[in-house]
Amino acid sequence: MFVLSIPAWGRRWPRVFAAFLAAAATLVAVAADAGARAGCASASVTTVAPGVYVRPGQHRVVFEAANVANAGFVVGEDCVAVVDTGGSEIEGQQLDCAIRQVTDRPVCFVINTHMHPDHILGNRAFKRPGVEFVGHAKFAEALGFVAATYLARAAEHEGRVLPDDYFVIPGRTVATELQLDLGERVLHVTAHPTAHTTNDLTVLDEQSGTLWAGDLVFLEHIPVLNGSVSGWLQVLDMLAAVKARRVVPGHGPAHARWPEAQEPTRGYLNTVRDEVRAWLKTGNDLRDAQSNIGYSEKPKWHLFEDYHRRNVASAFAELEWED
Ligand SMILES: [Zn+2]
Repeated sequence: MFVLSIPAWGRRWPRVFAAFLAAAATLVAVAADAGARAGCASASVTTVAPGVYVRPGQHRVVFEAANVANAGFVVGEDCVAVVDTGGSEIEGQQLDCAIRQVTDRPVCFVINTHMHPDHILGNRAFKRPGVEFVGHAKFAEALGFVAATYLARAAEHEGRVLPDDYFVIPGRTVATELQLDLGERVLHVTAHPTAHTTNDLTVLDEQSGTLWAGDLVFLEHIPVLNGSVSGWLQVLDMLAAVKARRVVPGHGPAHARWPEAQEPTRGYLNTVRDEVRAWLKTGNDLRDAQSNIGYSEKPKWHLFEDYHRRNVASAFAELEWED
C-alpha cells in the first residue's frame, strides 16, 4: 500500500508559503513604487550587462499571452536604442516606462530584429519625434504578406478594434550592415539572408560584448521556422564567429553564453533537415513526415507540439526542390 508521509519540509510548507507570499508582495510593491515614480506601469527588466536591459519573454504561443518574446534596450551617453518592442502597444508602453526608470536619455532608435508580431507590435508606443525605426530591407514586404492576419489576431488578443496603421514599419532599412551611434556606444546592425525569416537582423553591442540575436537563437522555446532551414544553419555558422561574451536570444533566458548558446537551435535544425532529406528519398508523404520526423528533439523544447509539425512542413517544402 502506498502511504503518504509528509516530510519535514512539507510540514513547514505553510510557513514557507507565507514567507514566499511576503517576498512576492515586496517585489510587487517595489515594482509598483518604481512605476509610480515614473508615472507609468513598468515592464520588469533584468540588467544583463552595464547599460543593457532585457525584459524576458515567457514560453507561450504568440497572441495567446503577453510578453512572449524577449525585448530590451541599450543605453548610450546620448540616447537609448530599443531592440524589439513586444507583442502589443501596451507592452511597448511598459518597456518605455522601464526605460524612464533607468535613464532620462531619450530613445533615438527602435530596432526590429524581424517582422514577427511578438517582436514589433509595441513599436507604436515609441512613435514620436526623434525616434528612428530600423529594420531589414525585406521587413516591409514580409509583413505585407501577413499584416491582415496579424491585425485580426492582435485585435482578438487585445479585445479592441485596432486602427489600420497599428503597425509601425521601419523607415531606416538595412540591406547589409549599419552602425548606430548612441553616444560613446556604437551598435553594429547586420542584415542576414533568409534564415528564421526573410528579414532577420542581429545587433552587436561591442562595448559590453552582447549580441542580440533575435529569433536566430532560441533557447528552451522550440525554434520556429518561417524562412529557410539551410539558410538558418549557414547564418548560425557566420554568427558563431561573432566575438561576443553573451547573447540575448529571441526566446529563452534574458542572456546566455556565446557562442555555446546557439548549439540547441543548431541541433534542432540539423535534425529536422537531415531527417526530412532522408524522408524525401523514400518518396513518402508530408503528413507522415510530420508525425515521424524530429521527435528525438521533443523532450528538449517547450511548445514542441505547437510548432514542430509546422516546422517539418516548412522544411519539407524547402528541401523537396533542392538538388
Ligand atoms: Zn520570430
